[in-house]
Amino acid sequence: MPNITIPAELLPADGRFGSGPSKVRQEAVARLADVAPQLLGTSHRRQGVRDQVRRIREGLRTFFDLPEGYEVALGNGGATLFWDIASHCLIRERSAHAVFGEFSAKFAAAVTATPFLADPVIVESAAGTHPTLAAVDDVDAYALTHCETSTGVAMPVSRPAEGLVLVDATSGAGGLPLDPAEADAYYFSPQKCFGSNGGLWLALLSPTAIARSDEVAATGRYVPAMLDLRIALDNSRLEQTYNTPSIATVFLMAEQVEWMNAQGGLAWAVKDCAAKSGHLYDWAEASDYATPFVADPAQRSNVVCTIDLDERIPAADVNAALRAHGVVDTEAYRTLGRNQLRIAVFPAIDPGDVQRLTAAIDHIAAALDGGAAGTS
Ligand SMILES: *Cc1c(COP(=O)(O)O)cnc(C)c1O
Repeated sequence: MPNITIPAELLPADGRFGSGPSKVRQEAVARLADVAPQLLGTSHRRQGVRDQVRRIREGLRTFFDLPEGYEVALGNGGATLFWDIASHCLIRERSAHAVFGEFSAKFAAAVTATPFLADPVIVESAAGTHPTLAAVDDVDAYALTHCETSTGVAMPVSRPAEGLVLVDATSGAGGLPLDPAEADAYYFSPQKCFGSNGGLWLALLSPTAIARSDEVAATGRYVPAMLDLRIALDNSRLEQTYNTPSIATVFLMAEQVEWMNAQGGLAWAVKDCAAKSGHLYDWAEASDYATPFVADPAQRSNVVCTIDLDERIPAADVNAALRAHGVVDTEAYRTLGRNQLRIAVFPAIDPGDVQRLTAAIDHIAAALDGGAAGTS
């Protein structure tokens, strides 16, 4: 591994480009430190913490401009737990899944393993692309993934057919365009676009999704309390979670939603992420050693960008040189097995830092390639 020194003027001011956990704005952390003596270590059933949950729920309602009747629910366990909530409370009998990477495959596997559901219909496509879901007979729920974080592919959220639309929006929510009326459960965790920490799930629920959870409950299906969407919703309506949350995570999420609303809400975030990802994809296309992994520009994610490198520039060396300078988590997804960088451009990430990052990578590539690599 060559010893490479990146000049200071090419280094991002903040080196966090991970796709989750992702950069938490220092201003939010400082605010947390300010309020900590009144907030951390106080009851989540009392006004102080409940005010923070209210800020999240009202902030998301504003951010997504939720239609009448839609509600924001939250609970502990992250998006991974929501897969089990969906299989217990939202899928009546059979679901159809667009599978195009690790996360979408995991939800399909969770449903397959659920004993009281029929085997799901799986519509798969190769890594770096997304499949299209169309109407399937005898299916009562369709599972989409807004951004497949393992590959950097984004798919539009639109209803494939009659039936509940469940969207894993864990990395897409807050950075990709959305008409919330196109989904019934649009769920995500706070440690991606919403720049907080992990451990919570949040979901935008349509009246149809809420009615489905009542309908499934009426069949007498056994649902463990932690997976019971109705219990989660009852608590959310009281600005609480069913069991004790990380209050720091709740506070950082509330700060980030309000910050994003102050910047101009979803329209601002979509534009900001598109400009930053556009810089990365344009840079890769102009480079003679880097290429966007996702061939179809329409399927490229504007929040998680995957860039393949020519074999003469080993991604492991690029990542090691970046990491040695405090620029971290640009590694490709573990199981993808490609010579690839994966770079998040969530709303908290500064556009100037993305520009400095590509300059730093060019500097490393030139050093690795004896000065031959560059922009053609
Ligand atoms: C990160 C991620 C998850 C898992 O989120 P957890 O908070 O760890 O449960 C699920 N789906 C997608 C698309 C993700 O990016």
